Amino acid sequence: MSDKKQGFDTIQVHAGTEPDPATGARQVPIYQTTAYVFKDADHAARLFNLEEVGYIYSRLTNPTVAALQNRMAALEGGAGAVCCSSGHAAQIMALFPLMAPGKNIVASTRLYGGTLTQFTQTFKRFGWSAKFVDFDDFDAVRAAIDENTQAIFCESLANPTGAIMDLDALGEIARKAGIPLIVDNTSATPYLCNPINHGATLVVHSTTKYLTGNGTVTGGCIVDSGTFDWSASGKFPSLSEPEPAYHGLDFHDTFGPLAFTFHGIAVGLRDLGMTLNPQAAHYTLMGIETLSLRMQKHVQNAREIANWLNGDDRVEAVTYSGLPSSSYYDRMTRICPRGAGALFTVALKGGYDSCVETVSKLKLFSHVANLGDTRSLVIHPASTTHRQLAPEEQVKAGAGPNILRLSIGIEDANDLIGDLDQALS
Ligand SMILES: *Cc1c(COP(=O)(O)O)cnc(C)c1O
Repeated sequence: MSDKKQGFDTIQVHAGTEPDPATGARQVPIYQTTAYVFKDADHAARLFNLEEVGYIYSRLTNPTVAALQNRMAALEGGAGAVCCSSGHAAQIMALFPLMAPGKNIVASTRLYGGTLTQFTQTFKRFGWSAKFVDFDDFDAVRAAIDENTQAIFCESLANPTGAIMDLDALGEIARKAGIPLIVDNTSATPYLCNPINHGATLVVHSTTKYLTGNGTVTGGCIVDSGTFDWSASGKFPSLSEPEPAYHGLDFHDTFGPLAFTFHGIAVGLRDLGMTLNPQAAHYTLMGIETLSLRMQKHVQNAREIANWLNGDDRVEAVTYSGLPSSSYYDRMTRICPRGAGALFTVALKGGYDSCVETVSKLKLFSHVANLGDTRSLVIHPASTTHRQLAPEEQVKAGAGPNILRLSIGIEDANDLIGDLDQALS
């Protein structure tokens, strides 16, 4: 599926999409159908037995969604991909084949707020747990891994501060422990960061953000590198032992590097039903066609604005990893060589009140709980997304009372700076 010889700009426009075989339509049609007519009883039986790949029912497979899956696999350099209804669905879908009651993951403390809640609260209902560690402390990551640890989880470019994780080092720790490294690549996108090249086994995305790019639909995706040996340790029986619901089929034996992808569709989507609809897949495919162009502008604007804020005397600190003064700057040149994204936080000297006032005065920046839109967005985590946390916990999450999170859009940087300037005064 992946075509590594082509450049990113070509892949983002072409991968996974041929002219429609029925009509010649150049753009991928929105296959707005629930089911597909079988050629005959034999054909139906082969599809249901996974002896032949084809379309049965849109909870599992749909041609518009398949085009997006193939394009995502190509962009990330993976063997295959499964799309689903949201980024949070992608996280559950990624872990579902790996986990069982009593099992845990070792996760970074620097994660999207909603992910922290999913991992601490909802995991418990499944009998899963997460151990949170500072992922810049590699000894602590190693020490947290025990015999029930099934995966290591982090964000390449972490929400909300834009801190960059050392995926090479974390990938090596995962490899030595015989477990997969799962990387949420939402804030970086495959244009800025290729986790698979740095040791990731699985890459998850909220396609809601930069991939769709304009705040229209929610979606998620899991890309599998296809390189992990699911059978080696016996730790991953869903992928390496007979599956009762498919007459004892062994996914790893049967599908090799596509084992995780086939399991995600044939078991994950079949039974969890977190399906992406074809209309949403269409919007996301449209967005991806211009991903590199948008990301270049997002990064260029973020650099200018972070620089300006950094030199302003109403500002205490700016966390942008693309500032040469950032402790993550050297790591950026290795992990995200095309730039540190467009998501970062700014600490205001005026504290909580000044943050709330600034948000209310901003005109171009929209006050929303989202990121990765063409429009610039702002949120004050302490009074919104991180409101439920105790003050010490807010500070630990990089969301103290004096912190604003900015998601820089693709408008004119001068207009954005002007807006920030008037709102700060
Ligand atoms: C938004 C986001 C998610 C959750 O994605 P949804 O599409 O909102 O479910 C997960 N991880 C990161 C880094 C995000 O920004």
